[in-house]
Amino acid sequence: MNKKSKKFTKKHPVWTGIIIFLVFVFIINLFSSNNQEQPKENKLIKELKISTEDDFSMTNKLHWDHMPLTYIIKDNANCGDLQINKMLEALEILENKTSYVKFIKSNSSSADLIIQCVDVGAVQESYFEEIERLKKDKLNCIEKSYNYKKDSISTYTEGILNKSEQLFINASKKKYLDSNTIWVICYINISDISYENIENYGIDDWKDISNTVLGDARQITEGNIITGGKINLYKPENGWSVCTDFPAKEMHELLHILGFGHVEEPYFDPYYGYVDLEPVKDIMFPYSYCTLQKTIQQKYISCLNYIYSNGKIGFCSEEVNFLNSGILCFYGWYPTRDNQDCCPEPNMEFVNGYCRY
Ligand SMILES: [Zn+2]
Repeated sequence: MNKKSKKFTKKHPVWTGIIIFLVFVFIINLFSSNNQEQPKENKLIKELKISTEDDFSMTNKLHWDHMPLTYIIKDNANCGDLQINKMLEALEILENKTSYVKFIKSNSSSADLIIQCVDVGAVQESYFEEIERLKKDKLNCIEKSYNYKKDSISTYTEGILNKSEQLFINASKKKYLDSNTIWVICYINISDISYENIENYGIDDWKDISNTVLGDARQITEGNIITGGKINLYKPENGWSVCTDFPAKEMHELLHILGFGHVEEPYFDPYYGYVDLEPVKDIMFPYSYCTLQKTIQQKYISCLNYIYSNGKIGFCSEEVNFLNSGILCFYGWYPTRDNQDCCPEPNMEFVNGYCRY
């Protein structure tokens, strides 16, 4: 045994004591921390959350996690009695036909469903006022020279202006020579357009007021849970248009808000029209036909009953289509390629207030 080992052996009992003590303290801590309230409480909160987050967990389809849903109809002055009454009629029919779908009128802007009427003419007017203001205060002009006689100029396709950043205002010839033609191109920066005025109208973006869009329904989703919905109804210049017998367009939008998607369009014969009228009668047909769409089909009622009874009654048949997510478009309108706006034809894009291919 060498000196070093001997020394170690001598001190060994002391070190062993300290180590055993530390291990003991560590185990006690570990043991007691496992028995503290905190983790138990967390587990309880977690369990509680699971059971309160989704009242209708029996379904994996797109759905709201609670009933009744609160709704608010904003900008009543813009809506007019005709449109408001049709919307209320649709809400009432849906409540009466289903067993568990219920709506409660609210005065809060944080209601589940926000229905708002927008006077397109008034909003457009304030948009044009804003553009006029910018034409005076924030107009940018650039010169571009061409070495030939040029009659017209296309600023976006020629790449002079960027559609998403600059709004073309005008272009004019400044100097006109056979050898050198100078054009002055004026534009405003889209980032300069103030959103202050449109806030009064409760819409999100200037592009919502494009006179080509009559209305839309949008929803916020988290996974398969719908957490918010908004129906924008744009009042066209010639006034509201509603179906007299049945609130078809309002019911269509409401069913979108409840998660349903469109039915597929049958073949349209240019001479004989739709070859099969059954899908056209469906309330979720993408186009409005007041004379054909006069009820909400049983398959939607049954599916709503299934979801909102949490599986007690009804069933969702395969004939019922659900939305994936993203934008919901008004009757006869389709989501754009980026799924952010609505246009009159499928697969278009929405740029500077216009639907384009
Ligand atoms: Zn639709």
